[in-house]
Amino acid sequence: MELTERYSIAHKGLKSGRYDFGFTVDGELFRAYDSPDIVDGACDVAVRMERGETTLSLDVSITGHVVVPCDRCLENCSVPVGFEGRLLVRISDEQGEYDGETMWISPADEAVDLSQYIYESIVLSLPYQRVHPDGECDPEMMKRFRIVSGEEFAAVEAQAQHESESLPDGERAKLAALRERMNDQEE
Ligand SMILES: [Zn+2]
Repeated sequence: MELTERYSIAHKGLKSGRYDFGFTVDGELFRAYDSPDIVDGACDVAVRMERGETTLSLDVSITGHVVVPCDRCLENCSVPVGFEGRLLVRISDEQGEYDGETMWISPADEAVDLSQYIYESIVLSLPYQRVHPDGECDPEMMKRFRIVSGEEFAAVEAQAQHESESLPDGERAKLAALRERMNDQEE
């Protein structure tokens, strides 16, 4: 896969010390990971690497934006990305599990592939609510949403409450946001 080369750091042969790397993220990364909602994006990734004997300590900063469907009108909107994080790469014959903070590579590996880390960091850094700035939602789409009647909403809510035990936090918060919107419209 080409992508793994594009976001790789060839650490082998480098002496201990500090190094800087930069990557550019575009829509390809999100397509490669079959992102369920990011349709496009443009981000700059800056990596400061401290190379030790058996570790690479990476300070990663990601800035830019991604394009996602707006929670309010479902048309695409641009959401800023700002991420700062640290990834520790252990170079070892022993292989642990990658947990988002520590990655393990074999001493035989020439390079460390950061594509997954970068992708996940962008996804995790996105704000919970992804909406256009006020007044910039698609008016046609908004009109269609207003057709939802109070009764229809009550039915949806009742069912959701019924399922709320198994409902993930994200879904519950989305429902709360929808409820707020309904209340706004009634006023
Ligand atoms: Zn919108």
